Amino acid sequence: MKDLNVLLSKRKQENRYRKREIVSSVQGASIQINGKSYLNFSSNDYLGLANDPAIVEAFNKGANHYGVGSGAAHLITGHSSIHHDLEQALAEHTGRSRALLFSTGYMANIGVITALCNRDDLVIEDRLNHASLIDGGLYSNANFKRYPHADMSSLESILKNATSKQRLIVTDGVFSMDGDIAPLNEIASLSQKYNADVLVDDAHGLGVLGKHGGGVCESLSLNEDDKPILMATLGKAFGVFGAFVAGSNDLIEWLIQQARTYVYTTAIPPAIAAASLASLKIIQTQPERREHLNDLITQFKKGVESLGLQLMPSQTPIQPIVVGDESRALKWSDELRNQGLLVKAIRPPTVPKGTSRLRITFSAAHTKQDVQRLLVSLEKLT
Ligand code: PMP
Repeated sequence: MKDLNVLLSKRKQENRYRKREIVSSVQGASIQINGKSYLNFSSNDYLGLANDPAIVEAFNKGANHYGVGSGAAHLITGHSSIHHDLEQALAEHTGRSRALLFSTGYMANIGVITALCNRDDLVIEDRLNHASLIDGGLYSNANFKRYPHADMSSLESILKNATSKQRLIVTDGVFSMDGDIAPLNEIASLSQKYNADVLVDDAHGLGVLGKHGGGVCESLSLNEDDKPILMATLGKAFGVFGAFVAGSNDLIEWLIQQARTYVYTTAIPPAIAAASLASLKIIQTQPERREHLNDLITQFKKGVESLGLQLMPSQTPIQPIVVGDESRALKWSDELRNQGLLVKAIRPPTVPKGTSRLRITFSAAHTKQDVQRLLVSLEKLT
């Protein structure tokens, strides 16, 4: 075996060592770690739903009705009526023919890419795609190419030179560490021009973007014909857990046959599906959460401008401040923590070398005073 102790020490020297922190409170605008409360700017609970009473109640009711465990995989005895209802509701919400639940977003991405592509095919990915999309491309054994972030001329030249019959373009909808939105209209027209399929991972857009929270495709008016394959997660704006893929009837039937991360795993507990349905209802009926969130983002962007700090071109709740090297990102994160704010430093390999950052995220659970407190604390960074 490799000398793990040496490798671990090296990680520490490089300031890339990762540590877990033990949270003892519910998720919310403030969070308790080691008995201390922090204003939380690091979660993906964008709509403040992770501890919503109506969703918790739906979860409890689901557990009372269905019990805790799902008992088996969906194809054995694990596919309950509440899973099925949730799939139908998600298909309708995203304007797709059908949807299929996966246990996690990571598994959904691996499952869909490997079910659609093999060694004869070409997978083309944005360089900043989430790790699960990159891993899906690699596990598929397809010819694998990456283009510089959002660079449409590079994507076009890869497509132009492609010899494989099947080509799959894969992109985050909202980039998880940068917060910007993929140029999906351009990707859709290139996919049509060069006869390629497209997979969009809308983990960070669903619930947040679009008038009805339908995500990045709703906000850009892209329907099933433009964007055949949509994937999104239920653990972020939905505040729950799990993920799904949505698209045509044939696509979903094929995934049921072929996606190994669907076929060979236990279905999520039905109570999770019950909670997700309650969450979807809130997403559809409470647009004021999105409006408040957008007000906070605007307030923050304006405030940061006057501090002279460099933001990225993001209109979403993900508002990173790129710091550069790992040690500085850790130092700023520590300084904020000393002021009672939780803002995690994100370092390589999650982001490219030299772009370590504070990944600030907003939630509809934050108040304007919370954002003001963040701005005051950012001004004090040394
Ligand atoms: N895709 C993206 C863009 C993500 O940010 C994440 C989660 N960090 C995932 C997929 C994986 O989702 P899950 O946490 O449900 O596995």
